[in-house]
Amino acid sequence: MKSNYKIIIIITTLLLMLSVIISTANYMVSLKSTQIHLKTQSLPLSIDNIYTEIQKHLIEPYLVSSMMAHDTFLKDWLLHDEKSTHKIAKYLDSIKNKYEMLTAFLVSQKSKKYYTHNGFLEEIKKENPTNKWYFEFKDIPKSHEINLDFNENFTNSLIMFINFKIYDNNYNFIGVTGIGIEISYIDEMLRTFKKDYRLNVYFLDKNGNVVLTKQDKITPKHIDEMQELKAYKDKIIDKNTDIIEYEKNGEKYIVKTKYIPELDIYLIVEAKLNDFSKEAKEVFYINLGLSLSFTLIFSIIIMIILRNYHQKLERLADFDSLTQIPNRHNFDKQFKQFLALQKRDERPICLVFIDIDDFKTINDELGHQIGDDVLVQTAKILNNGIRKTDLIARWGGEEFVIAFIDTHINDAHSITQKIRESIEKDAILKKAIGYSLTASFGLTSCNKYDTIDTVISRADKAMYEAKQHGKNRVVLARTQPTE
Ligand code: GH3
Ligand code: MG
Ligand code: MG
Repeated sequence: MKSNYKIIIIITTLLLMLSVIISTANYMVSLKSTQIHLKTQSLPLSIDNIYTEIQKHLIEPYLVSSMMAHDTFLKDWLLHDEKSTHKIAKYLDSIKNKYEMLTAFLVSQKSKKYYTHNGFLEEIKKENPTNKWYFEFKDIPKSHEINLDFNENFTNSLIMFINFKIYDNNYNFIGVTGIGIEISYIDEMLRTFKKDYRLNVYFLDKNGNVVLTKQDKITPKHIDEMQELKAYKDKIIDKNTDIIEYEKNGEKYIVKTKYIPELDIYLIVEAKLNDFSKEAKEVFYINLGLSLSFTLIFSIIIMIILRNYHQKLERLADFDSLTQIPNRHNFDKQFKQFLALQKRDERPICLVFIDIDDFKTINDELGHQIGDDVLVQTAKILNNGIRKTDLIARWGGEEFVIAFIDTHINDAHSITQKIRESIEKDAILKKAIGYSLTASFGLTSCNKYDTIDTVISRADKAMYEAKQHGKNRVVLARTQPTE
């Protein structure tokens, strides 16, 4: 049995190792695929979504600005009618309201006057830093530009201005017009991405400043404040789309970037790998738990099967398969122990050798099956006639032995007689063979000099005498053990 346990321990250990290896391998594979999915799908898709979202918010204001720059009323007013401020204020106000913009404006190149929907606002000057944009824009060879700017004239929040140059019919530059919109929707969009898609999104300008986002204390204002990312500055502020992997506080991050030409800024989408590998981790623990449980159940089942098998083998080795009583080998083992005890404590032990009378005839006349039935029933009668502490065995063929433990010869004799009568009177046996079955009994007591052979030999001789004297009787061994 010990070697069985060893085998079970080895098998269980191997299965456990296998479960851990398979679960870990699975986890690694799903982690890898999560990473690949992030790089090839989630991040690029998010980038595209954000980009489309921004473009969508740009198109209308762009068209409105362009339409204003080509408006003949605006051109005529600049060329011939700049005095009537209320007219242009009314025009700008109607544009502002119709398209729900934050502001609509016009700057005249001739007078350097800045008009909004409220009318004249200020005269722009090169020296004034807030007016710098006009002079820079005027000098670049582009018909329009998009500016991101804080403007204290409005809400002091970040405003996107779409500026268009105005030309007269001879293609002379006569001013700049455009609209301004608040870009708070971007903040909202970034929050959604954070909450719903577990993605961190932000924008950097070409100098590395964080732009388009409401400034707060937690968000860094410049890429240089981002300890781990600043090493990748050149890769991030680059017009080619890139994927960057880096580690922060022991966590792996994957970053994808995209240049947005319309705004001349860089869009950065960042994913913490751990946020996306949670499911893989959960599956790993479930897999591991399941396979460990299965291994445990499997080991228990193997253990039960082996134990049953072992018990069956033991039973086969110790019991007679026909009568289900102990066999000679088993009897030998146990009787030897009692003999040894008897030598020490002088406990009275008796042994009776039993042989069924004329059994061959039963076999010959009624068949082997009836013979077997007779053997089974006889064993039952013998077993019922003795105490639990006594020993019984099928010695072979139609021969049985009984050892009466702690029993004096006289008591053993009367028990044996009772057993003999029980066989003779047994109705089942009678019914099976058609007449009373009988058996012959040779009884002897044991002493401290006896071995199993001497005892059996005496009892066998006594049984032989019983046969010679007409069978169906109990004969006490004539030669009692030598002192
Ligand atoms: P006696 O009265 O002198 O004992 O005569 P007997 O016929 O009982 O004795 P014998 O030794 O001549 O015959 C025993 C027979 O028991 C012979 C053998 O074929 C039969 N036998 C032995 N084992 C089995 C068994 O397991 N089943 C059956 N059906 N018969 C068996
Ligand atoms: Mg015999
Ligand atoms: Mg016989």
